Amino acid sequence: MNLRGVNHQLVKIQNRNLILKLIYERGSISRQEISRIIGLTPATVTNITGELLEEGFIVELPSFEERSGSGRKAIPLAINPTSGYVIGVDVGPRIIRIATSDLLGHLSNIDSFCYDPQDGEKLPDILIERLKVLKDDRNIIGIGIGIPGLVDSTSGELKVSPNLGWRNLKLADPIEDALELPVAVENNVKAMALGEKWFGKGKKSNNFVLVYVSLGIGAGIIMDGKIYRGANNGAGEIGHTVVSEGGEVCNCGKRGCLETFASARAIVKRFKGTPGDEDTDINEIKIAVEKGDEKAREIVERAGHYLGVGISNLVNMFDPEMIILSGRVIRLGKVLLEPMRRSLESRLFSTDRIRIEISEFGKEIGLYGASALALQRFFYEKEEL
Ligand SMILES: [Zn+2]
Repeated sequence: MNLRGVNHQLVKIQNRNLILKLIYERGSISRQEISRIIGLTPATVTNITGELLEEGFIVELPSFEERSGSGRKAIPLAINPTSGYVIGVDVGPRIIRIATSDLLGHLSNIDSFCYDPQDGEKLPDILIERLKVLKDDRNIIGIGIGIPGLVDSTSGELKVSPNLGWRNLKLADPIEDALELPVAVENNVKAMALGEKWFGKGKKSNNFVLVYVSLGIGAGIIMDGKIYRGANNGAGEIGHTVVSEGGEVCNCGKRGCLETFASARAIVKRFKGTPGDEDTDINEIKIAVEKGDEKAREIVERAGHYLGVGISNLVNMFDPEMIILSGRVIRLGKVLLEPMRRSLESRLFSTDRIRIEISEFGKEIGLYGASALALQRFFYEKEEL
């Protein structure tokens, strides 16, 4: 329950945010429709959209006749994509990807480079050097960084990243100081879910879960339109939910976690007998399945089965409208997805079917996520006041 009083300024910010969100969601919309949908007076809508027009973040499109009748012209308002840019940073276990995005998530200047994860402490400096190059004469309004592990998004600090072996790494402060831009830091999968909400399949949904199946497995939960973080920023760690008691030891130290069945690491290890290059080898396994390799098929079907078990727990817990899937393991296609769907749907409680979508962002999903983070920070952070 929100026990804080609501002052005039906050009401104004909230109304502005509602209007911006609606323009984002609809693509284009007239003041009249905004007023009708949100229930604000036409004067308030004119006032707030006037401010947004003046700031350049929205534009008026050529008008059309209002269908409902009087012949009055309705002028559609839309986001002005090139009125501002953000920089998204996707920190992976070996590769960092960086790109610039306009206000509608059109990526440009995509760059990627390898780094040595041993150099955790040097990460802020490595990023500052790269980011300075991208800070050109365009109107850059912020930076978003997605990184694996537990992130305190308020302080912009990475608390712990088991996959990278890093702890207590301050990221936002040094980068903000060096570049004089607001920096938002978030767990990479939570950021990806936000990316789907801003630009992808989750655009029109306020309750969905993004499940990212890659080296590890994580979920980003969007609840009532916002990232659900939990008490310790650990919500969504589906990879470490136990799907088979007494199973293999996971790298978190427990047994039978979903990651020991369905992560790229686990699948490759089971197929090759040794850890391999997960990215290349997932493709190799896919080809093996297509050529009729029974062992490969069995491993992938088993991974799909357990993935379905893990996701059914999420669905029964959060009742989302849909699940969006992403990550290299998902590229295995229907040999993974069919057993996944069967085991998932046979375990659902309140519904028989759940909508499952595959993200359209491919390898760039982390960049869309990081860009959405920066936009969220720039446009809506004041809502949290
Ligand atoms: Zn685990």
